[in-house]
Amino acid sequence: MEKVVPKPEMGRLVDLLLERGYRVVAPVLKEGVILFEEVGSFSQVARCVTEKQDRGHYRVEKAEEWFGYVHGPNSLKHFLHPPKTDLLKVKPDLSQEVPIERKRYAFFGIRGCDIASLRILDKVFLGGFQDPYYAGLREGTFTVAFNCTRPARTCFCASVGTGPFVRGGSDLIITELRDSFLIRATTDEGKDVLEELDGREPKQRDYDEEKELEERSLSAMVRRVDTRDLPSKLLEKLESDVWEDVARRCLACGSCAMVCPTCFCYEVVDDITLDGSGSVRFRRWDVCFREEFSTIHGNPIRKSVASRYRQWLLHKFSYWVGQFGELGCVGCGRCITWCPVGIDITEEVKRLLSDG
Ligand code: SF4
Ligand code: SF4
Repeated sequence: MEKVVPKPEMGRLVDLLLERGYRVVAPVLKEGVILFEEVGSFSQVARCVTEKQDRGHYRVEKAEEWFGYVHGPNSLKHFLHPPKTDLLKVKPDLSQEVPIERKRYAFFGIRGCDIASLRILDKVFLGGFQDPYYAGLREGTFTVAFNCTRPARTCFCASVGTGPFVRGGSDLIITELRDSFLIRATTDEGKDVLEELDGREPKQRDYDEEKELEERSLSAMVRRVDTRDLPSKLLEKLESDVWEDVARRCLACGSCAMVCPTCFCYEVVDDITLDGSGSVRFRRWDVCFREEFSTIHGNPIRKSVASRYRQWLLHKFSYWVGQFGELGCVGCGRCITWCPVGIDITEEVKRLLSDG
């Protein structure tokens, strides 16, 4: 089902989701950054802004398009696999509580790379062992995805096949045209919502405008990764000098893994409350850039920064394929923008491929 709806109807769409009891998460402009946050009305959603992103650089500017931006540092991971999750609470009488949260999220204003990251997180947390904490937050999710018409300079989703236009996997998929939105519903829930919006049948000129926008978006994407046989080609570069060269610049801060929408590692910690009311076991994000991450029986397996960066990059572009059947990178470019020293994963892959 497809419909062209006037721009003011977008507010109605957010209202409909709120009325249906969803916790609507959308991009908001906060302290100079576009962040995904829970909103209570459409007025909170970031509009008529765009970002200038590059290695270690992020600025928000005014724009004519309502949704001509991509994303800031956080992602859907922050909601479905939060930075800290309580797993078990134990009281002094040894009674136990497993605090599984249930939320019905509607993710509004997400992009093709975000949809791909959802598919990957589902494989991680629901593919074999069913993680009840993730499942409680993921069940019944509704998604409203936008086709990207202005990718950031750091985006390379076209190389990994996740964008700039959404290929499916979302309840609603929206293209922002000059004076309206072309909306496609791909699920029954999506159709149900779209039926309630005012609009008209799309005309040929709407499809033509959409095609033009997609071509403009593709040609605006400046970064690329050659993914042909990439997992096996990278395995031949384990001893490359490139790793040591990256290590001379890398601070091992882990920012790249924190902002990555698919990095999922965590550690489990037991803690007691100071007032003696019980103890709690929780998990919190962890990153492979920490020496302690690979420490077994007191000995770190990956002592050098070079070996840790190699683990991270190879997991994304090589090991992940064996583990989950696809690349672990969705080409969102967050790790490039938010690396404090401007290390660019696409450049490092290129250097590795041309090394030796
Ligand atoms: S590795 Fe970088 S570009 Fe790829 S998904 Fe993670 S943050 Fe995005
Ligand atoms: S690549 Fe950049 S963001 Fe990642 S750990 Fe190194 S310095 Fe930090």
